[in-house]
Amino acid sequence: MTAAPDALVLGSGIIGLTTALALQEAGSRVRIRTAAPPEETTSTKAAAMVGPNLDPPGSPGHRWQQETLRRLRAAAPGVRVLDGRLVARPAGAIPPGADQTEGFRLCEPAELPEGYGTGFWVTLPIVDTPKYLQHLRSEFEAGGGTLEVRPAASLAEASEECPAVVNCTGLAARELAADERVEPVRGIKVVVADPGLESFFLEAPINPEWATYLPHGDHVVLGGVQTGGADPEPSDAEVAAILERCVRVEPRLAGAELLEASVGFRPGRDEVRLEADRDGGSVVVHNYGHGGSGVMYSWGCAADVVALLSS
Ligand SMILES: Cc1cc2nc3c(=O)[nH]c(=O)nc-3n(C[C@H](O)[C@H](O)[C@H](O)COP(=O)(O)OP(=O)(O)OC[C@H]3O[C@@H](n4cnc5c(N)ncnc54)[C@H](O)[C@@H]3O)c2cc1C
Repeated sequence: MTAAPDALVLGSGIIGLTTALALQEAGSRVRIRTAAPPEETTSTKAAAMVGPNLDPPGSPGHRWQQETLRRLRAAAPGVRVLDGRLVARPAGAIPPGADQTEGFRLCEPAELPEGYGTGFWVTLPIVDTPKYLQHLRSEFEAGGGTLEVRPAASLAEASEECPAVVNCTGLAARELAADERVEPVRGIKVVVADPGLESFFLEAPINPEWATYLPHGDHVVLGGVQTGGADPEPSDAEVAAILERCVRVEPRLAGAELLEASVGFRPGRDEVRLEADRDGGSVVVHNYGHGGSGVMYSWGCAADVVALLSS
């Protein structure tokens, strides 16, 4: 093993990778230990749209999302800034703060698909997560970081290796940090070939079923569902229902080649856990429980970890 790092990050999903990079940018030598490589994490299942920032101004979520939006303004592999519509069935349902988003304008009646009473356009980054995670990993390794597939047996064992540990283990924090507030929330990712879509679409509210599609150039990610249940495979009926909801909005998706249908379990928690647990000369910073917002909150949470470890 190489010389001891300044910080040991557990986990290589979106939270672990952004945290490791932020620490590295702040001048630390960082090692990542992970149970599975980035391409096998829940983070690859995220659709993923960043914004509009509808968290209340002054809340941690608002701050975290602003920081992620700031970071994603710079072009990066897997990130595309695109116009899209956010719609809802009731008329007049424009959430507070939406009009602060880049590119905001109300939909014309002809731009609302049948059955929707309100909607608006915005310009947002959308993230092709498998590609973006590989980019983050490459940046981290190019900066001298090391990534080892070697799960931590416990937080105590990790602390023996390095006195500054950051716990970014998502759902696994339920066992690792003995935190029963962490619960799996099942979702389904459907991917089809891109028939040439120019904009994205998201229906609110996003619970328990909604229509969304995010075109990434060569493929489109469709969703969505947010349910209990533990089935690690999507049923044919679930996939057909997602396709049907999306085709109703965007007929060009009918007949698009199905490339992937898979399940991911969001690391649900009533709130993100982002705090330092100090014990003598060692510290564990917890950064997990991001539910359906891990990509959105990633860079802001990473910045908070840097601040906690510097204080
Ligand atoms: C279908 C779907 C759609 C989604 N869409 C969006 C979206 O549009 N926008 C958005 O912001 N979010 C979205 N999400 C949520 C997002 O995917 C999660 O919030 C995010 O992936 C959580 O990231 P994470 O790094 O905490 O967890 P994970 O990606 O699960 O990573 C956890 C890491 O910890 C590692 N690990 C586990 N145990 C150990 C151990 N003992 N030692 C070391 N490492 C360990 C794992 O191997 C893994 O590398 C979506 C999720 C799903 C399922």
